[in-house]
Amino acid sequence: MLQKNDLISLVITDITNEASGVGRHEGVAVFVPGTAVGDRLTVRIVKVLKHYAYGIVERILEASPDRVLDTCPVSRQCGGCSLRHISYHAECQIKQNWVTEHFRRIGGIDLTPLPIQPSPFQSAYRNKAQYPIRRGPDGKIQIGFFAPRSHRVIANHFCDLQPHFFGEILGIIQIFLEQYRISIYNEQSHQGLVRHLFLRWGEQTREAMVCLVINGTELPHANILVARLTKAFPQIVSIQINCNTAKTNVILGPVCRVLYGKPVISDILCGIKVELSPLSFYQVNRSGAEKLYGIAADFAGLTGGELLLDLYCGAGTIGLSMARRVREVIGVEIVKEAVENARENARRNGIHNARFLCDDAAGAAQTLAEEGLHPDVVVLDPPRKGCDAALLKTVGQMTPDRIVMISCNSATAARDAAILCQNGYRVTKLQAVDMFPRTAHVETIVLLQRETL
Ligand code: SAH
Repeated sequence: MLQKNDLISLVITDITNEASGVGRHEGVAVFVPGTAVGDRLTVRIVKVLKHYAYGIVERILEASPDRVLDTCPVSRQCGGCSLRHISYHAECQIKQNWVTEHFRRIGGIDLTPLPIQPSPFQSAYRNKAQYPIRRGPDGKIQIGFFAPRSHRVIANHFCDLQPHFFGEILGIIQIFLEQYRISIYNEQSHQGLVRHLFLRWGEQTREAMVCLVINGTELPHANILVARLTKAFPQIVSIQINCNTAKTNVILGPVCRVLYGKPVISDILCGIKVELSPLSFYQVNRSGAEKLYGIAADFAGLTGGELLLDLYCGAGTIGLSMARRVREVIGVEIVKEAVENARENARRNGIHNARFLCDDAAGAAQTLAEEGLHPDVVVLDPPRKGCDAALLKTVGQMTPDRIVMISCNSATAARDAAILCQNGYRVTKLQAVDMFPRTAHVETIVLLQRETL
């Protein structure tokens, strides 16, 4: 029997979906984070459960050929980049395996996927960051990211996944908050003002947005912060506060107020100029998203005559990127600001064959189906939790020829694809697209075709 603090020798034979290495010791699975397949290690056991155990690396006896030098000073504490110690090539293979396995195990769908599409960039690929701001045990303000499964901030201004100037903005904000003794949010007491910093960047337009999330409605000395930020960064075209006074883990509250500039920034995605408010979803990896949408258009097999239903459409980007190759686009999205962005995005791009409904996807699909809508292609791009079973049933009843499902969670995508398979569809293409290098996340894209009886 393994005991806490035991030192064992272990060979890592697999990587779990949480990106932890795993090996077997006398038949017991031992999970060791930060390891790679092929590592031969001395492992210290830190926790023993009934059927498995957790360990940490005490010594690397023989390094896996997949290992690369992890140059991030905080990656182990931060936990965001759980694959940073592995080569990008190996990372892509691991992610492809995750997707294939989820479809096989959860969806009962045994299909050889198309080769994974790597991200065009592996660092500075993110165009958005949401940094928690808290006071550390020493009373100092900390801006960075939460440690895994905790709300302890790992202070770090310069994250390799973000553009470098995000870190410089953090520096200015930190000095401002300290100098003017602005109160900082405390989760336990629900007191204090400043909760999070939200940054977004239009890579193509070079427009940046700064949004401070506050537990209140007024930011003291806001004019000074605006002056400092705009002087240091002419690319900042929008400074806002977001009011979030709720006791919640959700980062953004419902209302934004402009302190400087515009309420939106713009970017260009697949040739479409898009406007984005802080509350609108936008793919964090722009060049990766162009690849993804290109594959989506290819899977959709557009010929020019289609009626396309884009469910969970966000700011309308997928539907709009395909609008010139279809007859009509109908987008459905629940966030009001995102729908406003989508309509404005259609208008600014001279797209007249797209309309957007602000509604719950399941409810809207039901209404559209009752009205007799028969889309040729349905795009489903739900959040991580996936689609409602009711929505999938309704989509099946609308009998589209093709369904393109996009998801950042291959487990729920596999589950939802299986439900569509019970409603007359067959998965004909499956592909992983890496939009989140170095992290344990990957995008999945699936083509489902209607079975002809
Ligand atoms: N297709 C878009 C957005 C995908 S993210 C893009 O590629 O940019 C998922 C979107 O689903 C988010 O915009 C979120 O606000 C929206 N959403 C979440 N729950 C929803 C629901 N029940 N009905 C409609 N939209 C929903």
